[in-house]
Amino acid sequence: MTAFRHTKIMPTLGPSSWDEATIEALVQAGAAAFRLNFSHGNADRHRETFANIKSVAAKLGRHIPILQDLQGPKIRIGTMAEPVELKVGDVFTLDDNTEAGSASRVCLPHADILAALRAGDTISLNDGVIRMSVTEAGTGFATCAVQAGGLLSSCKGVNVPGRELPLNVLTEKDLADLQVGLEMGVDWVALSFVQKAEDIAEARRIIGDKALIMSKIETQAAIRNLEGIIAASDAIMIARGDLGVELPPEDVPPLQRQMISLCRAMGKPAVVATQMLESMIQNPVPTRAEASDVAAAAYEGVDAVMLSAESASGKHPVAAVEVMARIVAKAEASSGWNMRAPEPEAGNVADATCHAACTTAASIGAACVVAFTETGGTVLRMARNRPSQPIICLTPHNKVARQMALLWGVHTVVCPDVQGTDDMVQKAVAAVKTTGLAHTGECIVITAGVPFGKAGTTNMMRVAGV
Ligand code: PGA
Ligand code: MN
Repeated sequence: MTAFRHTKIMPTLGPSSWDEATIEALVQAGAAAFRLNFSHGNADRHRETFANIKSVAAKLGRHIPILQDLQGPKIRIGTMAEPVELKVGDVFTLDDNTEAGSASRVCLPHADILAALRAGDTISLNDGVIRMSVTEAGTGFATCAVQAGGLLSSCKGVNVPGRELPLNVLTEKDLADLQVGLEMGVDWVALSFVQKAEDIAEARRIIGDKALIMSKIETQAAIRNLEGIIAASDAIMIARGDLGVELPPEDVPPLQRQMISLCRAMGKPAVVATQMLESMIQNPVPTRAEASDVAAAAYEGVDAVMLSAESASGKHPVAAVEVMARIVAKAEASSGWNMRAPEPEAGNVADATCHAACTTAASIGAACVVAFTETGGTVLRMARNRPSQPIICLTPHNKVARQMALLWGVHTVVCPDVQGTDDMVQKAVAAVKTTGLAHTGECIVITAGVPFGKAGTTNMMRVAGV
């Protein structure tokens, strides 16, 4: 078993990594969760990747959360015959012709957006790398002058910064993809381009309790409605790719910090995404700045750090996870690492119990904190305290076990409902022994709810010897 790390690593799977052998290598290198990016690939491909993850999880005896990332109302260009290098001054047209794109044009398969474009609009492509200005807009086309060049390949994202475009959070494609994901049994669903809390309510009406919802914060509107969105969501993703196009890049680092601390105060997990080890798409080693960026997210106490193209289509997917794991481990072992527990929520018994469990674990030097949970709620409260000990989540439900495995410091074990206090201690001790995270002679701090097996009752703390 690799050394325990609190900050989780979530690679995106793609052509560089979706085979079973690579998935297994990624898990061995430190991946705790995987993202399936539904902006790319088809349903059959995702089903196959999903089955490959399940097979690796079964082989290694791990609970591996799978995140289905829906494309959302992201505007993307159509396919390109081949990648093309656009240069400053080039004339490039976006149109409604579905044929593969060339050096002079590509399809923008969103009739309403194409119709809304006006001369003078700025369009950015490929996460803001390419910028162009609309010089002429007509029926079914917009001609642009390239202002900042770069490589343009199929399905790259399009942003129109500063323009509020009327977009539904779930597109027709998302609804179809969501059915595929829920049928497969994904644990988390990420919503792209969330703008307000009601967007999450709309998705939840469809998803129900089949999966937890992670809202991607990547628009100016989402920043304006941040607290409401976090409250309505089960987690957020700090989606720096689009956020850094919608806002100036210097706005992103303070927002990342602010979002992580707000999430922690509200007991909701947060994931930092995009360009964490960007240069490793090509190179076997990261830049110093990238190493610093990953460490900074860990210091800020984020639950998980994500890899996108680095692991999905890059040349060194396994090396990227290995490096990420080493950076996180070093940051967590360093003296700058200091996760102070927030005050428990006043009047909340479960929160007070979890807080007490964590402070007790610290003062007696316990090997780990063990939380019995039906819904995962107690584990969310526990993780919010950021104890230096591993949090062992014991739940009778496989789905909850996988969902909670995305959280900071959480290791999950499936365990049947307990029948009484002695049974609780016995099951907790047996479970932690299987994890290798506690040894004979050490002690553990256990929380549970009495009556046992009833959700939302955490009200008991017990210290036990292993
Ligand atoms: P994407 O989301 O990779 O689906 O665009 C992440 C981001 O915008 O950072
Ligand atoms: Mn995005």
